[in-house]
Amino acid sequence: MEYSILVTFYEKIESTTKRLEMTDLLVTLFKKTPPTIIDKVVYLTQGRLYPEYVGIELGVAEKLALRALSMATGLSLEELEAELKRAGDIGVAAERALSRKKVKSLLDFVSSAQALARKLMVEEVYNTLDKVARATGEGAQDTKISLIASLLRHASPKEAKYLMRTITGRLRLGIADMTILDALAIAFCGGKDARSLVERAYNLSSDLGHVARVVSESGLEGLKYFKITIGRPIRPMLAERLTTAEEILEKLGGKCVAEYKYDGERIQAHKLSSNVILFSRRLENITHHYPDACEIIRNHVKAEEAIVEAECVAIDPDTGEMRPFQELMHRRRKYGIEEAIKEYPVSLFFFDCLYVDGQDLTNQPYPKRREVLMKILEPSERAMPATYRIIDRVDELEGFFEEAISEGCEGLVCKSLAPDSIYQAGARGWLWIKFKRSYQSKLVEPIDVTVVGAFWGKGKRAGKYGALLCAVYDPDADMFKTVCKVGSGFTDEDLEKIPGILQPYVIEHRHPRVDSKMKADVWFTPSVVIEIIGDEITLSPLHTAGLGVLKPDAGLAIRFPRFTGRWRFDKSPEDSTTVKELVEMYKMQLKKIET
Ligand code: AMP
Repeated sequence: MEYSILVTFYEKIESTTKRLEMTDLLVTLFKKTPPTIIDKVVYLTQGRLYPEYVGIELGVAEKLALRALSMATGLSLEELEAELKRAGDIGVAAERALSRKKVKSLLDFVSSAQALARKLMVEEVYNTLDKVARATGEGAQDTKISLIASLLRHASPKEAKYLMRTITGRLRLGIADMTILDALAIAFCGGKDARSLVERAYNLSSDLGHVARVVSESGLEGLKYFKITIGRPIRPMLAERLTTAEEILEKLGGKCVAEYKYDGERIQAHKLSSNVILFSRRLENITHHYPDACEIIRNHVKAEEAIVEAECVAIDPDTGEMRPFQELMHRRRKYGIEEAIKEYPVSLFFFDCLYVDGQDLTNQPYPKRREVLMKILEPSERAMPATYRIIDRVDELEGFFEEAISEGCEGLVCKSLAPDSIYQAGARGWLWIKFKRSYQSKLVEPIDVTVVGAFWGKGKRAGKYGALLCAVYDPDADMFKTVCKVGSGFTDEDLEKIPGILQPYVIEHRHPRVDSKMKADVWFTPSVVIEIIGDEITLSPLHTAGLGVLKPDAGLAIRFPRFTGRWRFDKSPEDSTTVKELVEMYKMQLKKIET
């Protein structure tokens, strides 16, 4: 398949502001794609080469990419740097550079024309980019430059635009996994109704390319053979949220197991003999950040093969007490890992077991999974099962909640004990309910929002972003709906950092997955998640979250929103607080005011 087909698709996706059109475009693309390369097309469309968990990333430095561009066009590095400055985007800079390529001689002209006559194919692009991503060690830079230049020589200006964005890790079309699943169901499985089956395969493998390959080759039939594999992360089960013990017990049938909700980082550990791989909640491979956690699992999980889940919590080396989440984030560094291990040691609190020695436990009820977990876990000071209690009384649940808070936890996760309490991979459901602390009685609990736009600042903040337009997530519509403009709570350091953090996601118009009545000065592809807190949730005609749910023409907004200082880089935008949760929180707040 010619790479230009992909490029035409990218252009269309970039110009649409309609969510449904994105799916239609994907369906057309997938139908056109030969099954043998559909996995590659899916990865490339997401700006990557492999599923995230593999950890092989593009992301060539701009400088290096420009050197390749210089080699392919004959333009000097200075000229290209100036072009990049003008364009503000490496893709556009490359497109312009290729349009005014320097031809030094007749021979040059002929060879350049010959190069262009040969069309770039998707396979060639993919394989070359793969070599670029894998080149390491001495001479790696030169290898990367000549590989990239070899592609650019055969590229049209438009192709160069997207090649450069892909190579530098800047192809951010903002196509959600769920949109791809919809498109696959429509293209190969008879329609959107098959989406849940396609999704189950994805939830067990976390590999969209693999799922695409299977359904494009053998339709729904092929999905029957999907099974859990060590090394391929299972998409995590998520919890719903309620704010009172009564409601939680009622929802869980009067009885539940309540567990401490530790304030750390969720890890899914895959163990095969003495090999351990750790995946984050977003399914990145984070093994190298936590060699100490790997060691704990190697020594304390007594099974040849296992997939277990635990919360990894920073502890004070002097007192053994738990430290807050922010402290743990010091461990997410690239260098100096040895020192970080000493300064910020961790403990693991295990709470689930999904697979042991060939046996898939995800369809087993939670009590059974917990029983297996207790069998294979050899507890120690650094490896403990999550503290839990089986509870059937409201006062007892409230008491246990207070105990969890005083131990430094965020609250409780209350879990169903029913026969159907399976592990719902990739789903947020009512089998797990979080019971979190409210920071002040009237105050809204902190919520996680996705940054979708920004407004220029004034006065001291002139030339910088003065406020960020933030949104919650609506999974049913797969849309981000605005809920507030946040301008406070940022330290001077945050304000300095914000443009750099958001710059890679700047787009020219509102993203098709963003629903907003406000017109931001700058729009972003939904990517960055922050935690905010406010005074209360109010009805608002300005925001689109929950629009029309409680009152026609009014959505919900956060009054006096403030950034709490927590960048949630561990969360994907789809992990933001949902519209439904916000509506629930609003109703709870009304109840509190009434009583
Ligand atoms: P939230 O991030 O607020 O949606 O809360 C769910 C998160 O709580 C999970 O993703 C885990 O990282 C964390 N957690 C802490 N303790 C537990 C536990 N005992 N069971 C399940 N999740 C837990």
